[in-house]
Parts: sequence; C-alpha cells; structure tokens
Amino acid sequence: MSLEFRAAVLRQPGLAQPYANSHPLHIEEVTVSAPHKGEILVRIAAASLCRSDLSVVTGVRAWPLPIIPGHEASGIVEEVGPGVTSVTPGDHVVLVFQPACGVCPDCVSGQAHLCDPGLQANRSGGLLAGGTRLRQGDVDIHHHMGLSAFAEYAVVSEHSIVPLPRDLPLDVGALFGCAVMCGAGTVLNTGNVRPGDSVTIVGAGGVGSSALLGARLAGAEQIIVVDKEPQRLEFAKKIGATDVVLEGPDPALGPVLDLSHGGTDFAFETAGTVEAFETAYGAVHRGGTVVSVGLVNPETPFSLDVASLVTSAKTVKGSYVGSCNPTVHIPKYVALYQSGKFPVEQLISHHLPLDDINTALDRMANNDAVRQIITP
Ligand SMILES: [Zn+2]
Ligand SMILES: [Zn+2]
Repeated sequence: MSLEFRAAVLRQPGLAQPYANSHPLHIEEVTVSAPHKGEILVRIAAASLCRSDLSVVTGVRAWPLPIIPGHEASGIVEEVGPGVTSVTPGDHVVLVFQPACGVCPDCVSGQAHLCDPGLQANRSGGLLAGGTRLRQGDVDIHHHMGLSAFAEYAVVSEHSIVPLPRDLPLDVGALFGCAVMCGAGTVLNTGNVRPGDSVTIVGAGGVGSSALLGARLAGAEQIIVVDKEPQRLEFAKKIGATDVVLEGPDPALGPVLDLSHGGTDFAFETAGTVEAFETAYGAVHRGGTVVSVGLVNPETPFSLDVASLVTSAKTVKGSYVGSCNPTVHIPKYVALYQSGKFPVEQLISHHLPLDDINTALDRMANNDAVRQIITP
C-alpha cells in the first residue's frame, strides 16, 4: 500500500528572493510507501519554519536533492509498521529531527543528541533504517532530518518521535521538536544556568527567544538580549528580557559589559554568525561560559585568541539539540508549559497554509517572524 499526498519539494537551492516569486519550494504530489518495520506514518498537523530550513533553501547547507524540508512538527499517528509498540494510530506525537537509535554508545550513555547512526542517516537524506520512503514516479525524494514535515504526511522512524498529551494544542506541540530543545534546552542543559545567574543572549530569533524563555525558567536574574532588529528587541522585552541592546551601528559589547558590570555568567550565541559568537565570547566575565547554538556558514573563517581563552579561563561549548534527550526532556518541558511556567506559545507569530510556504520563507529571511506555523 502506498499513499499520495501534497508536499513542499526543493529541487534547486540558491534561488533569489523574494521567494514568493522564485518559488524554491513547489507544492507537488509525492508518494510514500507503507511504513516499514519500526516506522510510523504520521499525518502532519502543524509544522513550523526554522532558520535551518532557510539554510536548506539558500544552499548554505548542502543536502541531497530533491528534498522535502521541515523538521519541527507535530501530528497524529495514522499507521504503524511491524514491531512498533511505542504508539498506536490516533496518538499525538512531536517529530524529533535527531533520531536516537537507542543502542549506540552515545544513546546508551544518555547522550541521545550525539547518536551517530542518527546523524549519518540524516546526512544521507534517508531514514534511520536506511533509504528513502518518498518518491515521484521512479525518482527518490529525500527526507530532511529523517522527517520532511512540510507535507500532509511523513513516514518516520519510531526513534524520531515523542508522544504528546492529547490535550496539548498541536501547533504548540510542534515547537518542542526544535525551537524549544535548541533554545531553552541549550540554556537548561548545555549551559546549566542556575537561579540568580546572569545571561547574555545574542540573536533574538526563534531559538534566541526560546533561550530567553529557558533562562527565565532557570531563574536567571539578568537576561540581556542583543539583536540588530529593534522590533525583535521589543519582542524580547515583552517575553522577559531584563535588558536589550541594539547591535549596530555601534558594537553591542560595550553596553552589555556596562549593564552587567563587567560581563555575564553565560552567553548564548543563537544568531549563527561569527560576529555574534565574538560578541557572546566578549560578553562573559572571566571564568564565564559561552555556548554556541547557531549554525554558522561552514565556509566562514574564524580565529580565536587562545591566550585570552587561557588567561580568562572561559569555557566555550557547542550545543546540538540543546544537549537534550528528547524522550526525557520533551515530556518535562511539555509539563512545564501545561502548568503555565514555560509559555512557549509566545514564540508563535504566524499561522499559514502550506501553499503560502514561500511567503513564510521571505518573512523569515527578512526577520519579520519568530515561529510561523504551517498547516497542510
Ligand atoms: Zn530547527
Ligand atoms: Zn544512537
């Protein structure tokens, strides 16, 4: 049995803006085979647009083509393949972009975000068990991060989902798959910010705003947010930044050091640029911790003054999936949302249909959105 459905297919990265005219994503009919052993057919309820989807469309990060992007989504289980016991049809799930095989040394030691079989499957544009399940005629269509959620349906590994409570709105549920783990998870897990700590967040997009909500949840006393866009700083203030600093035309670092009396305990780089990393690196005091979560263009050269790293005794860390084990952390974050302590719904700025996805790309490229929820 196979199923035909509509999906947003990318064939040619690097097309010019406005995307509403160049249409890098085409809504087309594709076919999916019935779920194999250990796989699940999910009817997508909500998929949100993340900056790394934009990097697929611009070609900054190369993927096998053609591909259906979309890696932050929720849905309802439609059908399960042989051997699946974790969910049954009708269950609500969030899709997780880093599959965790459960048996590799990293998974077994609790570092599911480092699962190497999961990473290799993602890089191949296939599913964890190998190969693609999507096609058009004889042509294989690749999966983005084992998911491909800008579509009416997705077939995914059962290691790429986490069940959600049925009373959780599915548009909010989608956010837990990337924005919440990569933003708040980075602050709570990778950084391990404690009550009373001071924090600088460089970049106030979706992940930066989620990091801000995470810093509030952690009990950070001072939260300074840096961005180049005044309207994003307005939003940051609305959701709990204690101070905001506009980057440019003057550098943001001076005001950050003034506001924090010499630097914060932590700085989180979420903008995905070397410039933002340098601001974050300068924003922490001696002994402070700098965490980078934004995906910088891999071609960008970078140098670090190692002597200053030694004498300032700073710690520099990278964070992937917010160092989260999705099976463990997503239910905790959902419970915190449901009890009102973690208002992640504030990240949703727009709702739109799948047909308008290229307009959503423009909005993200122009920094006019936080999280846009796309409904098939
Ligand atoms: Zn993402
Ligand atoms: Zn693994």
